[in-house]
Amino acid sequence: MNDEKEVKHEEVKHGSFVRKKGMLVVISGFSGAGKGTLMKRLMEEYDNYSLSISATTRAPRPGEKDGVDYFFVSRERFLEMIQNDELLEYAKYVDNYYGTPRSYVEQEMKKGRDVILEIEIQGALKIRAKYPESVLIFITTPSAGELKKRLMHRGTESDEVIKKRLERASLEAVGVEAYDYIMINDNLDKTVKHLNYLIQDQHMRASQQLEFLEEFQKELRTVL
Ligand code: 5GP
Repeated sequence: MNDEKEVKHEEVKHGSFVRKKGMLVVISGFSGAGKGTLMKRLMEEYDNYSLSISATTRAPRPGEKDGVDYFFVSRERFLEMIQNDELLEYAKYVDNYYGTPRSYVEQEMKKGRDVILEIEIQGALKIRAKYPESVLIFITTPSAGELKKRLMHRGTESDEVIKKRLERASLEAVGVEAYDYIMINDNLDKTVKHLNYLIQDQHMRASQQLEFLEEFQKELRTVL
């Protein structure tokens, strides 16, 4: 019964707008805020998103796969990608480079798919400057104490790296006002659902529906 209600709610809420353009959705968040798991769940539960895979010079963590979690590249290769304009944006984060390969993003947007970039704040601001219609969403834990706890529990980073990531979080906290939305990830199931609603609702923005409006206006003239 509950499931039926859920489906109907989604139809009402999201069945009545015209989808034409693929959108760029930037997801950022403090290291340890649960973005990785959130993205995994979003991709598993909804099939309307294309997740961009970044290139990085950082070493893979245990279990991470090349071409799945990241394209793990050498510093030389990364600099070459910058030179060849292969990256839509890039940034240095705690001693390593990270960047978004351009071709996949452009190709998926052309197909009308919403492309998700899971990137840090400097990159997010570059995307906003290049694509003013992109949506910027920041994910955080309910408190700074919880952030530290999650980073320590993860057990994949040394104490020194955890310290650097927390320092970085305190710098980034100042820039978060530039984002369109801030989501507190206190319950994964709930956050995944809200994130999907939030992204889908962006398609109702008038600026996302200019082609529809143009067609509507043309048709209006014919029925006058
Ligand atoms: P991690 O090392 O934990 O995988 O990622 C560190 C930070 O780099 C995270 O904040 C992540 O969002 C960011 N990041 C990952 N890929 C990119 C990218 O392509 N560009 C930018 N600017 N940041 C990225």
